[in-house]
Amino acid sequence: MRVIDVAPPASGFALVLHGGAGGRDSVLTVEEERLYSAGLAGAYRAGQVVLATGGSALDAVCATVKELENCVLFNAGRGAALTARGEAELDASVMTGDGRAGAVAVTRHAKNPIFAARKVLEETAHVLLVAPGETLLSEWGLEIEESSYFVTDSRRQQLAKVQAKELAQSRHGTVGAVAVDKHGHVASATSTGGMVNQHEGRVGDTPVIGAGSYARDGVVAVSCTGEGEAFIQGVVAHDVYARMHYAGAALPDAVRGTIEAELNGRDADGGLIAVGADGRVVVAYNSSAMFAAYEESGELVTLT
Ligand code: ASP
Repeated sequence: MRVIDVAPPASGFALVLHGGAGGRDSVLTVEEERLYSAGLAGAYRAGQVVLATGGSALDAVCATVKELENCVLFNAGRGAALTARGEAELDASVMTGDGRAGAVAVTRHAKNPIFAARKVLEETAHVLLVAPGETLLSEWGLEIEESSYFVTDSRRQQLAKVQAKELAQSRHGTVGAVAVDKHGHVASATSTGGMVNQHEGRVGDTPVIGAGSYARDGVVAVSCTGEGEAFIQGVVAHDVYARMHYAGAALPDAVRGTIEAELNGRDADGGLIAVGADGRVVVAYNSSAMFAAYEESGELVTLT
């Protein structure tokens, strides 16, 4: 397990994002590394500027996740992992530290599923909507795409290799962001295409509040990535919060305890990002690699 622990910044706000944790087919080439780093850095800056100008944690995490959804490299929005039938079925969730949450599962038409999740939070009395239709999405004023928009050649090839058992299913790539703003509020946002070759209709941890995502003002915001079934069974994001809130654990100790008990204990791999209410940032994973971006002593760090 690797745990990166970054002290709270003097600015009073903090942001960290991930682009998924898991195994790799091969070592990244120099060019791939450059592309991933650029994608992570661009998404980080999109959220960072929101926080620096006094914007909310919710606006910041949505701005960051939107960039990652639009980048074909990551498993969310365009370029998402495909189901066994070769389709993109996307899930996303947002949560604010005051306890409000919104999520969507099996979306096929929202260009940015994270905005659909946010609309559930802001416009409905519900937390989770399945397969929001085009009429509802356009009533919400969201951009709509044909289902083919989300499917890329490289994901088709990946699916064919997984189905031919030439490739293990362990590559992930879900995206997420957590932030604390200048007003001390936290938020989390997470978005995914799920697991490669998943059964149609399968929903993982990403839109399940408490499993793939959780936020509570005064304590922590968490966004997860990895084998979704284990994250649901272990209620991973909430488990980190519970260790801090009820047992008084420091953020990195809570994260270590959760990964040890709920992921290692299930022989599952993945990782998470978390930001404490004080701006302390943790990136942790038990898989071989994780994509992430955060700031340390004013410098942007990208993990590839
Ligand atoms: N957690 C996601 C899921 O199970 C997959 C991932 O993180 O890549 O749907």
